[in-house]
Amino acid sequence: MAIYADGFMKIKEKIAICSIKHHEQSHIKINVDICKNCQTRICIIACPAHLYTFESETGKLIVDHTGCLECGTCMIICSSKGITWKYPEAGYGIYYRYG
Ligand code: SF4
Repeated sequence: MAIYADGFMKIKEKIAICSIKHHEQSHIKINVDICKNCQTRICIIACPAHLYTFESETGKLIVDHTGCLECGTCMIICSSKGITWKYPEAGYGIYYRYG
């Protein structure tokens, strides 16, 4: 663990030492009908964990909830309300060790 001259760790180092206990059931729901017609798919760009992908073969937006950082960006940035997001059940999700 590196502490830099400014007294802080880099964000990627902080994330690397977090642990995630993921639930089988996704806490992120995608509205297929809304997302298939989305022109921007801004969630793919905005998610800091890069969990969203668009499958051109099936025409579906998919999300890998198991790496979610619980920042809520995808829910806020989707102006079409195609994403329903809630915190994982108690005992699941990300555990931040250094804030
Ligand atoms: Fe990605 Fe944040 Fe949405 Fe999780 S809450 S899927 S990390 S944008």
